[in-house]
Formats: sequence, C-alpha cells, structure tokens
Amino acid sequence: MLNNRVVELLNDQVNKEFYSAYLYLDFANYYHDKSLDGFANWYEIQAKEEMDHAMLMVKFLQNNDHSVKLEAIAKPNVELKEFIDPLNEALKHEKYVTSLINNIYEVALETKDYRAQKFLSWFIDEQGEEEKNAMEMIDRFKLFGGDPHGLYALDSEFKTRKYSAPSLELD
Ligand code: MG
Repeated sequence: MLNNRVVELLNDQVNKEFYSAYLYLDFANYYHDKSLDGFANWYEIQAKEEMDHAMLMVKFLQNNDHSVKLEAIAKPNVELKEFIDPLNEALKHEKYVTSLINNIYEVALETKDYRAQKFLSWFIDEQGEEEKNAMEMIDRFKLFGGDPHGLYALDSEFKTRKYSAPSLELD
C-alpha cells in the first residue's frame, strides 16, 4: 500500500499533468494561428506526453487499489504576444512541475514509501529531459529565430518531431 499523503499528492498531480497538456495545447493553438505549424506540432506532441504522464499516475494509483478523483482543469492563463513567449513560459512551467514532483518524492522518502519512490524516480529523470528541451528551444530560438529564414528552418525542424509513447509502461 501507498502512504496516504503520497496518494493525495499524486492525485493532485494527475490534475496538474492534464493542466500541462492544456497549457501546451494553448501554445500549439497560438503557433497554429501564426502559421508556425512546426512549433504547433512540437507542442501538440508535448500535450500528448503530458496526458501520458497523467495516465501513468492514474494507473499507478489504481494498480495500488486507490481510486482517482478528477477535479476541474484550470484554464491556461498565459499571455502570448511574441513568438518566444511560449518557449519561456514552457521552461518556467517545467521548473514548477519539477518542484511538484520533487515535493512528492520528498514525502515518499519521509514516509518510507519505497514503491512510490521507485515510480517517481522515472518522473525525476523525465523532468530533467523536459527542462533540457525547454532550455534548448529558447537557446536555438535566440540564435536562429530572429530572421525569417532561420525561423522557417526552425519551424521545419520542429515539424519533424514524432510522438513516441513514454519509456515507462504500466498495465
Ligand atoms: Mg509532465
């Protein structure tokens, strides 16, 4: 069995992951409206990954005999003006998510919930990846995004991103 506080926090995190999906879909829609379909593609895939994260947490809770309580998903409330805004907001958001995951892990450590620790360790690695990707996108945008040719090349590159299922699988 899992620790009750860990269960509560993981249940909250399901909602937060779905919010992340919503936020990234909002970014995808913004880029779609600006005809930057590659950037839109990148964030649509990111939104799918966030739904995967939520579902992994749902399965983990269910596999451990806990029911999942779904709450309302907040409306994304980020103002997007410049092309770089979603990239900066994404990094800020991923740092926030890292702090949430770290907090759950800390509770799992304190309560000696070893099963939750093992499960969460995948998310700790995943957050490292997410922050790295977000930082790289900002760096590359700053290098190449300033002129139309560079922006076109970046957009074309982001169009090639393909969805792949998470490396962690739960039945
Ligand atoms: Mg996530």
